[in-house]
Amino acid sequence: MLGNRQAKTNQPLKFLSYPIIFLLIFIFMLGVTTYALANENVVKVEANVLNVRLGPGLSHEIMTQVNEGRELEVIAEENEWYKIRLAGDEIGWVASWLVDNTEIMAATNKVGVIINTEANIRQEPSTEASILGKAGVGDELIVLYQESNWIQVRYLGKVAWVHSSLIDIQKDGALTSKANAQIQDETSETDLSEVFIKTNGTNIRSEPTIDSPVLKKARAQEVYSIVSEENNWFKIDIGNGEMGWIASWVVNLSSESLDTEKPQVTSLAEATIVIDAGHGGHDPGAVAETFNEKDITLSTALLLANKLKSLGTNVILTRDADKYITLNDRVYLGHLKKADAFISIHYDALETENLMSGTTSYYYSEQEEVLAQTINSELEKGLLPNNGVRKGNYFVLRENQQPSVLVELGYLNNDYDLTVVNTLSYQQNAANNIYQGLYNYFSQ
Ligand SMILES: [Zn+2]
Repeated sequence: MLGNRQAKTNQPLKFLSYPIIFLLIFIFMLGVTTYALANENVVKVEANVLNVRLGPGLSHEIMTQVNEGRELEVIAEENEWYKIRLAGDEIGWVASWLVDNTEIMAATNKVGVIINTEANIRQEPSTEASILGKAGVGDELIVLYQESNWIQVRYLGKVAWVHSSLIDIQKDGALTSKANAQIQDETSETDLSEVFIKTNGTNIRSEPTIDSPVLKKARAQEVYSIVSEENNWFKIDIGNGEMGWIASWVVNLSSESLDTEKPQVTSLAEATIVIDAGHGGHDPGAVAETFNEKDITLSTALLLANKLKSLGTNVILTRDADKYITLNDRVYLGHLKKADAFISIHYDALETENLMSGTTSYYYSEQEEVLAQTINSELEKGLLPNNGVRKGNYFVLRENQQPSVLVELGYLNNDYDLTVVNTLSYQQNAANNIYQGLYNYFSQ
């Protein structure tokens, strides 16, 4: 009887064999983990500027950026990435190693200087990863994160990677004034009294965050008094007793860089040329039946780049792949590289089909007319009719402090142009003509 009863009471335990018990413990632990996350669901941004991406990984597009010190609500976690909720209930993802509740310390607010040789700036920490651009010897980059062989940096507003052998992480004392401004932390007394605006359209905001409302847009060369400093933002006096905030990384702290004129180059081989392939990514530009403007601006830009590189010219492309680059970033790249010329490549379209045909060269300020004329007189020899040189109020011309010209290389809604423009022979010819125009311009 006794044995029988024992056997009966043992029955449920037997049923709960070891695998089942482990499973129950596991389910219980999952519950605990979720609970813990719910209790510690706010993280603080450690990096100088943190990208918020559309998905959990560096390959996902950047949707916005948040600044150091900002607190973020974490909803979920996946592979060292946090799913976060932003103002307005937007959902994004941030790298867990760039916020403060992880064991890995982010290398915050450090500046790296490119040493020895020109460095490839890559999208991922691998020599196989695509190259976003190049940084020259002496160029400074904000360091976001250090791994043994790769350094994560901020490059033209994006997270990118440089091989650790090419970059020297600076000690705080050895920085330039601009880099120093970027490592100031918290609200601090500053002996910096003024900011100098570098680019037209620089945002002055109501709060020290990039998502706060824009109070006004500053113009290049304007000067504002600094009232205080907080998390890499300057509180500035914008007149009539009003205050605004401006990001430290978009301004100069001394007028030096405005005064230092680069010596005049006397040949195209010595020049630095920015080639800007119009549109890209979610911006197709003009649309033809089988291709978009963004495709042929890129292929033409690459042909021109190759031609220039073979001469030894320092060529910088605003994009070398099908990706979206803001107009501001395009112009900024030219300023950053002190480009001797900025050439923006486009193809046209009008509302009415077959109204116009051929090529046109645009400039904005009077002193750029010669560059436009010199390029255009070569485009006149091209395979399509030429419409001459015109003044054009384009952002990449108007906001550009470097000599800039925008060429329209044919109409995508002209039946004849359309048979020509998407061919290698046409694009090579157009690239050769622009090259010859630049060559003549710098030989003058
Ligand atoms: Zn265009």
